[in-house]
Amino acid sequence: MMHGASPEETALREAPSILTIDLSALAENWRTLSRRCGRTECAAVVKADAYGLGIERAGPALWNAGAETFFVAHLREGQILREVLPQAVIYVLNGLLPGTAPAFALAQLRPVLGSTPEIAEWSDFCAAEKVDLPAALHLDTGMHRLGLSVEEALRLAETRRLLAFTPSLIISHLACADEANHPATRRQHAVFSDIARRFPDVPASLANSAGTFTGPDYHFDLVRPGIALYGGAPIAGAAPLRPVVKLQARVIQVLTAERGEAVGYGAAQHTKRETRIATLSLGYADGVFRSVGSSDARPGAAAIIAGRRCPLVGRVSMDLMSVDVTDLPEAAVERGDLATLIGDGITLDEFATVAGTISYEVLTALGHRHLRRYLGG
Ligand SMILES: *Cc1c(COP(=O)(O)O)cnc(C)c1O
Repeated sequence: MMHGASPEETALREAPSILTIDLSALAENWRTLSRRCGRTECAAVVKADAYGLGIERAGPALWNAGAETFFVAHLREGQILREVLPQAVIYVLNGLLPGTAPAFALAQLRPVLGSTPEIAEWSDFCAAEKVDLPAALHLDTGMHRLGLSVEEALRLAETRRLLAFTPSLIISHLACADEANHPATRRQHAVFSDIARRFPDVPASLANSAGTFTGPDYHFDLVRPGIALYGGAPIAGAAPLRPVVKLQARVIQVLTAERGEAVGYGAAQHTKRETRIATLSLGYADGVFRSVGSSDARPGAAAIIAGRRCPLVGRVSMDLMSVDVTDLPEAAVERGDLATLIGDGITLDEFATVAGTISYEVLTALGHRHLRRYLGG
């Protein structure tokens, strides 16, 4: 009966869950943002394995769309990206760990230097090697997470000629731009503009996805979108660009529970009527947080089955979850069918909100247990 099935068809049939990543949508989202920014360069943030979606596939898709500058968090991520993008400009946001300058130089990676000791180490390395290797400077404009203080930056502006390298970019990061009109955003902009003026020959970059949507005066010379590329809403409540991910799981059993029966661990939810339950092969070990589960006190997430929204019932287990399919026609759901948890009208942000978190955490938690299907690219 299964003769003639291709390896892909076989893998698909056997997959308990499927994560579909649309590289064409990713590329289109980059082009949309790049157009929005006019002459400002649009980079791409691909840290944490391209927000969990696979840097080795996302990187080349973004490069082919036109992105030339990339941001990762770690040296190792930069080395992996360098393998697939020999020509790209790659910045490492978490900067330089002691003794790692040779590894940066070898892979032609640019550290984002956020402290005086880091700047000294990079400068000393450049002086010893007699090379001027580009690096970015990170300025703290009020987030107090990474970067030079305003005082340190002002001092550096005065003593810059002592550096053995030429800074290629000066960046800062917005803490609150995902909330429209947050007063901290304006303040950070003012501080950043003031410092950037003192490095007039160094390109400046302030905006993440949210900053990119905040307004053209936030664009400076280069924008650094991440989440908007991957289909997350850039600003709370704003429409996302094209969705990039779809998460589906198999129905592995359909059963009936009488009215008043308990479903799942902890007997957290009881049926209010005779209930047909579809059990899905997906759980918190697949990155679907327990917090999307349902209880008598609080509804949880939904799944799309046969084109209809069906509510979760009971807690999410490690490898399983239950969905109330009573309202579907009897023949509409069978063992082996696919249910959609993210996609088909359920946005990434809707799912994240039910989970009590943000789209970023949902994406980076999806993990490698699903069959991954890449479309386009
Ligand atoms: C993660 C990150 C970005 C991208 O942020 P998004 O909100 O995903 O667009 C930009 N800049 C820095 C410094 C970052 O850490």
